[in-house]
Amino acid sequence: MTLLRKSATKTPLITEIQRFCLQDGPGIRTTIFFKGCPLHCPWCHNPETQSRKKDLYYHANLCTGCGRCIDVCPEEACTMLIGPEGTASIAIDRDKCTLCMSCVDACPSGARETVGHLLTMDEILRECLSDQPFYKNSGGGVTLSGGDPLFFADFALTLSQRLKQEGVHVAMETSCFPDFEVIRPLLSAIDLFIVDIKSMDPVKHRQVIGWPLEPILENIKLLIENGANMRIHLPIIPGFNDTAGDYQAYVDFLTPYAEKLIGVDILPFHSYAAGKYDFLGLSQTYQYKGVKDKSVGQMKELVQMLVMVGIASVTVGGLVGMGGDKGEKP
Ligand code: SF4
Ligand code: SF4
Repeated sequence: MTLLRKSATKTPLITEIQRFCLQDGPGIRTTIFFKGCPLHCPWCHNPETQSRKKDLYYHANLCTGCGRCIDVCPEEACTMLIGPEGTASIAIDRDKCTLCMSCVDACPSGARETVGHLLTMDEILRECLSDQPFYKNSGGGVTLSGGDPLFFADFALTLSQRLKQEGVHVAMETSCFPDFEVIRPLLSAIDLFIVDIKSMDPVKHRQVIGWPLEPILENIKLLIENGANMRIHLPIIPGFNDTAGDYQAYVDFLTPYAEKLIGVDILPFHSYAAGKYDFLGLSQTYQYKGVKDKSVGQMKELVQMLVMVGIASVTVGGLVGMGGDKGEKP
């Protein structure tokens, strides 16, 4: 817990500030991706946000094989590979790489990219506030995402408070992992909590994701009891949490909160993130390469189960829409 407390007080690296998002809460939104998460979901769609530190992307399709990265690398971590048709690419020894980023500066074709940038609070605010007219017209706002913004709870709190002072609706996507006392101060600053539940099986949760399930469920309960607006995200992952028993366990847990939840978004697995694992040199560890995407149709049963217990808004894919659902209780 000491490590987590230290993280909570740190300034995060930001991987991206994405404008005009439609799937991270109501209306048109700007989503800020914090870099760092204590959970390790093996299907993670944003693997570049798991580590708190900078990462190095290598885009093989942009590499011309000029060899400048080899020349500048102080660790001799880069080696030229020549394919069967004479095409050149670079192998990076990630164990040797110290992330000095000399190769990013030297690469003339953009094949090297630094992932994670240190931005000031004012820089982030300026970017977010530039789209305020769109938020107003669409019922949108700003979403803190990641990674997990609660890994940097103090920074997330100050940022949310400053956005709210400007009249901006603030949502937070989180797995609600920390002690509730870390989350409590955010109750008055976050208009909508969007909370992921990845499994209802405590053993699998700890073994596969590397974090206990129980505090997450307790935090969901406490947030709702304390009046938080909340949508639940259910990522449905082939072979991990997609059996009838898994669905029933979700429904059993959510039923007592059905009237208090703003809604539930079912997120069927897709493999769009596979390329990011390649860029990070992690393709060998990505277990979901070639696994078929889950279709919207396959989610019908779970949708029906959730609607039957009285959850007012159930979506597949998390598209909350433009202006209709403001992410608040009726
Ligand atoms: S970031 Fe890594 S691969 Fe690139 S120059 Fe530095 S040590 Fe070498
Ligand atoms: S400097 Fe860039 S383009 Fe040249 S070999 Fe290295 S990664 Fe490829």
